[in-house]
Amino acid sequence: MNENLHLTGFSKSELAEFAAQIGEPKYRAKQIFRGLHSRRLLSFEEMTDLPKTFREKLNEIAAASTLRVESRYVSEDGTRRFLMKTHDNFPVETVFIPTENRDTICFSSQSGCPLKCDFCLTAKLGLLRNLTAGEIVEQIIIVLNDVYGVGEETPHGTNLVAMGAGEPFLNFENLTKAIEIMADEEGLFIVPNRITVSTAGIVPKIYEFAKLEKRPHLAISLSAPNDELRDKLMPINKRWKIEELLKAAKEFEKSLRRGERFTFEYVLLGGVNDTDEHARELASLLNSYELNRVKINLIPHNSAEPLEYHPSSWEQVEHFKEILESKGVSAYVRRPRGRDIYAACGQLAAKDTPNLVQILI
Ligand code: SAH
Repeated sequence: MNENLHLTGFSKSELAEFAAQIGEPKYRAKQIFRGLHSRRLLSFEEMTDLPKTFREKLNEIAAASTLRVESRYVSEDGTRRFLMKTHDNFPVETVFIPTENRDTICFSSQSGCPLKCDFCLTAKLGLLRNLTAGEIVEQIIIVLNDVYGVGEETPHGTNLVAMGAGEPFLNFENLTKAIEIMADEEGLFIVPNRITVSTAGIVPKIYEFAKLEKRPHLAISLSAPNDELRDKLMPINKRWKIEELLKAAKEFEKSLRRGERFTFEYVLLGGVNDTDEHARELASLLNSYELNRVKINLIPHNSAEPLEYHPSSWEQVEHFKEILESKGVSAYVRRPRGRDIYAACGQLAAKDTPNLVQILI
């Protein structure tokens, strides 16, 4: 096996080139693409429409799968967390979140994360490395196969969010390549319209993202209504201030499609950024930029050792939301999911805790 030729991350044209290079006809590339992405087979052996000798050859010179699932945790609310390792032993975490009318897969774009958001556990890992396009796509295939069975049709309405470990906009090329591969109608067929990418605010990439022809939805993690506080909570703010971030957001608004909105995420930290005054400041900030096609997702903080924050009371969460709404800003509260298995936002830190209910594959 050669992990550097991870065919799961090859676009159709790259696969065609690969087939040509090894002296195989073009249609082999198509068969491999369909095997990996439509039938969701993560081993060449199973692609029985390919001649046996060719499958053996592929096995030697390339790889269909480079991730291995080390543990799989199931929350009492049905959320599943997959702790995987890359071939060179870096952690990758992916979360499956079922809801009544649609399922969501939350995937990672990096192993660890270089941003030092003070309230996030992933930050404690630091950046380990960028994930390849193949590693991003494979996460989704592994989860789909676990939940729906190998080769079964992906239920319509499965959404993807790039909200796992890492900062997607610091791995822009691999992320956009993975998104393109997943959108293919002869493959997974998960269109960008069902994908949301969340950024802590890498401003130049917001402009670039806005120009993508097949652009997913955007979420921006704001979490503070002024620079003084945001500098402390999210050090990326020292590089790009709120003003620059909101200018980019304003520009991004122009790229929205009919009926589409974009999101600001706001992690509510008890006593830190959740007072009535903060809510009023936030509303007037957004109103001053005339950001009309935006909604705010309020995320109650998911606490975990050694983070020093605690969530706001439910009364205050509701109250914060009401203040925003009274000033014309739409706000929603994100219910925490999978907290008991360290699967919730900001809890992905490759935790393999023995006292969790662990179901090994
Ligand atoms: N780096 C990107 C992608 C991560 S998305 C970003 O920052 O947007 C993860 C979301 O969870 C972000 O909105 C982040 O602010 C939020 N988050 C991080 N730690 C959290 C925690 N402990 N509790 C609740 N939300 C948290």
